[in-house]
Amino acid sequence: MLIPKTHPRATSLYIREKLVHGFREGLVVEEGLLAHGRGEMFDYLIGEKTTKTSQKAIKAAARALLVAKLPVISVNGNFAALCAKEIVELSKITGAKIEVNLFYASEKRKKAIAQILKKNGAKEVLGIESKFAKKIPKLDSARRVVDKRGIFSADVILVPLEDGDRTIALKKFGKDVITFDLNPMSRTAQTADITIVDNVTRGMKILIDVCKKLSKKDLEKKSKFDNKKNLKKSTLIIRKNLRRMANA
Ligand code: ATP
Ligand code: MG
Repeated sequence: MLIPKTHPRATSLYIREKLVHGFREGLVVEEGLLAHGRGEMFDYLIGEKTTKTSQKAIKAAARALLVAKLPVISVNGNFAALCAKEIVELSKITGAKIEVNLFYASEKRKKAIAQILKKNGAKEVLGIESKFAKKIPKLDSARRVVDKRGIFSADVILVPLEDGDRTIALKKFGKDVITFDLNPMSRTAQTADITIVDNVTRGMKILIDVCKKLSKKDLEKKSKFDNKKNLKKSTLIIRKNLRRMANA
């Protein structure tokens, strides 16, 4: 589809096209397209920009990834279709491992996702070889399989666009969870330790920049980040935007 540059919401349409392309290439499932629609709706409500509140969460996330002993970036179809280049860059800067981990698991799709990550410069992609498969407790069968060298052993995990059940299971399993989720009310947003209420396509670039800029001194300071408080602020931004639109 040809999207005119002058279209007032061209960026949103480009992102949508990227996802449709990812669907045709076998990276994204139908349910992923629906999840994207939910994301677009919340993006509209927060004003399709990175808020100051999200900037704060991004800074906390950068810190957590840089001080982690074994950080892992968990990749699903939507995340790979939207941010393959940024995933590899973030992994290089933070030393985080990359693991393909799918809600709707399929060997073919896992391989397609690993391939696109490798095409973008990833040296190693975990979650593919069954000999390293381990199970996390309290989740139903297909969704509990993780890589022994990755999520299973990680202390900090970045799990963007994740389902609530899995986030809760990862928390119960003792992991520190960072997520990107445009819906501040989702179970994932509410359960994670650090929720970045921003579109991954905008937020990942900023996260990479912040990781590059944080000094050793910044990393030594104790984090004062309060996720619940930060999520409330994002919800208030939505309320403010709705009020303005309703002239109320
Ligand atoms: P939950 O299971 O956490 O209660 P859910 O079932 O609505 O939420 P899932 O499909 O499980 O949602 O997870 C996808 C989440 O990712 C949604 O909250 C959606 O708003 C969000 N999302 C979709 N696309 C993007 C995007 N590009 N950037 C950031 N967040 C997104
Ligand atoms: Mg869900």
